[in-house]
Amino acid sequence: MKIILIGPPGVGKGTEAKRLATLFDIPHISTGDMFRAMFDEDTELAKIAKAHINRGELVPDDLTNAMVIERLQEPDAKKGFLFDGYPRNIVQAKALDDFLSNQGETMDAVLYIDADIELITERIAGRRVCKSCGAVYHVNYKKPKVDGVCDQCQGVLYQRKDDMEATVRRRLHIYHDVTAPIIDYYKHQQGFHAIDGSGNIEETHQKVMDAIQ
Ligand SMILES: [Zn+2]
Repeated sequence: MKIILIGPPGVGKGTEAKRLATLFDIPHISTGDMFRAMFDEDTELAKIAKAHINRGELVPDDLTNAMVIERLQEPDAKKGFLFDGYPRNIVQAKALDDFLSNQGETMDAVLYIDADIELITERIAGRRVCKSCGAVYHVNYKKPKVDGVCDQCQGVLYQRKDDMEATVRRRLHIYHDVTAPIIDYYKHQQGFHAIDGSGNIEETHQKVMDAIQ
């Protein structure tokens, strides 16, 4: 099972990715995790990529592609894999397609989970986090017993900077601008499914499973 999962923050993509990887017993490949893991490695690729990250630059596509393709040749990826956060652009999508078609393979499913910007904004901007223990609440869906106070440790609840409405809106707009060409690229390919992520985690999971069947 070869799956690509695409979706903005706040649609439950991370949860769904973990679930599918467990269900199909395939590795969950996130380029973000790969870059983080690489900081402990001493390979040629790792050195070059680290130099870019340390300069505050994006890792160039050819490097990212080389890392991903190296990863796909590891034994655990033989029965399939799930991508999360890759491909990020057309150059990466084409490199992945080329690699797969050289092996006589194609992606089985490209799943694009999305929801209305207003809904996602409300979900993220309503989050409150405990300063002491990190427990997460929501002003509408998971209210603490006492306003602004953690149920578990009586710590103070606050809103993270990343969760503030203006930040969320900006991130979502950037996300959609960056992702639009990728969606156009995959839209007409076999296995592409747009999935409505406006329901809860369980409902979204059911829609994903229906699409995969
Ligand atoms: Zn707490």
